[in-house]
Amino acid sequence: MTAINKPENSKPKIAMLGFDAAELSYIQEHLTMLPNFKRALSCGPLTHLSSPAQMFPGSVWPTFYTATLPGEHGIHHLMQWDADAMRLRRISGEWLPNEPFWRELERRGVRVIALDVPVAFPPKECAGVEVSSWGAHDQVSLFTAYPRDLKTEILRRFGEHPMGIEVPVDKSLSERMQVRKNLVSGVALKSEMARWLLTSRPWDFFIAVFGESHRGGHILWPDGSDGESSIPASALLDVYLALDNALGSILAAINLAETTVIIFALHGMGANLSQEHFVTPLMDRVNAKFGELEPGLFPAGHAPRQRSVMRLLRENVPPWLQSKIAPLVPQFVRDAVVDRQFTSGRDWPHTPGLALRADNNGYIRFNLAGRERQGMLERGSTSLARYSDLIRESFSSLRTAEGSRVIGDVFSSEEFPGKRTHYLPDLIVSWSGLEPASRAKSTLGTLVAEMDTGRGGNHRGVGFQIVLRPGVQQNAEDQPFAITELAPMILRAFSDGGVI
Ligand SMILES: [Zn+2]
Repeated sequence: MTAINKPENSKPKIAMLGFDAAELSYIQEHLTMLPNFKRALSCGPLTHLSSPAQMFPGSVWPTFYTATLPGEHGIHHLMQWDADAMRLRRISGEWLPNEPFWRELERRGVRVIALDVPVAFPPKECAGVEVSSWGAHDQVSLFTAYPRDLKTEILRRFGEHPMGIEVPVDKSLSERMQVRKNLVSGVALKSEMARWLLTSRPWDFFIAVFGESHRGGHILWPDGSDGESSIPASALLDVYLALDNALGSILAAINLAETTVIIFALHGMGANLSQEHFVTPLMDRVNAKFGELEPGLFPAGHAPRQRSVMRLLRENVPPWLQSKIAPLVPQFVRDAVVDRQFTSGRDWPHTPGLALRADNNGYIRFNLAGRERQGMLERGSTSLARYSDLIRESFSSLRTAEGSRVIGDVFSSEEFPGKRTHYLPDLIVSWSGLEPASRAKSTLGTLVAEMDTGRGGNHRGVGFQIVLRPGVQQNAEDQPFAITELAPMILRAFSDGGVI
């Protein structure tokens, strides 16, 4: 267990610097160009962090800040299934309230500054300093800041963060290079803001997170080729160079003789090896097949299929046009488009299940009577068991043209028990690690689909932390531990016991 040291009889001071989805192996490969990460790693210790990201990459921040697993906090994606409304809906503090651990610190009188922690819903009231969704990769709220006058002050000093929204469509090289430019300037701005907050206000616990490593990893991950339209390897490196500068500049604003600094990432990034583009087309065929196998559930005219104009549009409007339109319309309109792509044209009483919005793994939801407002499959019924078996068999049968297995496994969310398990997808499909295919054979025929999210990078499950303790040089690796152990570690450090 990592210990946080503090001098006898003094209050602890802890600064957490998060680099969202930053990849440790990428940092280590480029260490000669990243002097501040290099120095931090030489002071160590380095600890690998395990997380539920292998199943639910979208769950890691609530898992970290509540110290509970996704079955308890209920968050796995920005756009989740609302069983009462039968639609996909952006997560919010009103719908899925979860309190970050630093609010407990504030109640105990600890002076807190929290800057852009992803997927942390803004508080209703706040005793400390908290900035939400100014420069975050995932936007779960509008930009808010406490105390109340801070937002105006931030906009006056720093303006808006240039990262903007991510439109999940293929991108041209010039669009990617614009992303690179926005991220590099965004890192510099956030670094300045972090230094300003650190030096202009008293604090005991400081946490700031850079979302640029997350967006950059997805959009700028090098594809290893050197074709004219391929992304140059320097694009992502430029973002990491900016992050390294930011790290050096923030560390210089902290009194390291009295502060424990935790540099961390909750999950990582690598080449995008997702085959998620096959999930919706295969689920169409699974549902059609289930209609044949269970005619009693589907009277004539009620075969389970989706007739959605929005899905047709989303699949056929050119990516460049979607990229132009999306930033011009309000968030609720973009969310409605995503929702209708998955849910419009459904005859719910005759839809046994559907694919949900996902980023890496496949997410599948059963349409359960008593749980979904218009559910059709009875819990514990033989029909549900047959449907689940058909999904598992169909996905397991997926093979590339060369005969390689496409999926890794099909998991059940029952592996994450808790009071909010019912907010998770029922089945999670993982991949075998092949390059994304555009054709796959299955027991239900051949599927043709392209990965078209514009993401060259996707998540890896392991994160890391480097702990810099006052007066201690220690570069040995600590035992790996889970991201759920971080918050209790901080809370203990500020409790009466002090040293842990
Ligand atoms: Zn991501």
